[in-house]
Amino acid sequence: MSKQLILALSKGRILDETLPLLADAGITPAEDLSASRKLLFDTNLPDVKIVVIRATDVPTYVQLGAADVGVAGKDVLLEHGAEGLYEPLDLEIARCKLMTAGVTGAEPAQARRRVATKFIEVARRYYAEQGIQAEVIKLYGAMELAPLMNLADEIVDIVDTGNTLRANGMEPRELIASISTRLVVNKAAMTMKHERLKPLIQRLQEAVAHRREQASA
Ligand code: AMP
Repeated sequence: MSKQLILALSKGRILDETLPLLADAGITPAEDLSASRKLLFDTNLPDVKIVVIRATDVPTYVQLGAADVGVAGKDVLLEHGAEGLYEPLDLEIARCKLMTAGVTGAEPAQARRRVATKFIEVARRYYAEQGIQAEVIKLYGAMELAPLMNLADEIVDIVDTGNTLRANGMEPRELIASISTRLVVNKAAMTMKHERLKPLIQRLQEAVAHRREQASA
């Protein structure tokens, strides 16, 4: 295993909140990530590189060892499963909720419920646990449209402010999981590169704790 550390970061809204934390932990990209179409970046540290990829690909990169460390939302991790991954730290950023939602005022379908979501594994587990028969329909985006178009009775999606749901005549129903962004580490790398990973995890931990203190002050 090479001594180099590869960090896989989730593109999009998580990235904006991850970079300041990484900076606090002593890692800054060598160039502006948002101003480039590149995907692989050098950092201020000669042995650390960053890849910026789709959030749903981060667990795969880390599980298979293409990256040693990753930053991913708990929603993505719940859907992917934890095999081959340690989750040593809650970065406490990009908080949101994974919820069921339906048309405002409508009674949830009692018989076999049609559920549209991109989180099909999470949805299957959730409805099975609730003892509700569900037909889970995989969609890749615009879940809010599915009940309006009578494709589904309910959706499972990320809710932050609830504005997206409200704008489409829908309301949140049940909370499936509270979500935040997590640090994940490849299990083999955690052993083989422990000397290199330990200070990184520790510094991130301190950065998270420092922010929490500031927020409560
Ligand atoms: P909102 O309208 O504020 O409830 O935001 C809901 C939409 O924003 C969802 O459909 C998600 O796609 C997206 N979203 C909000 N927060 C997050 C997050 N922390 N991670 C990923 N997507 C999010």
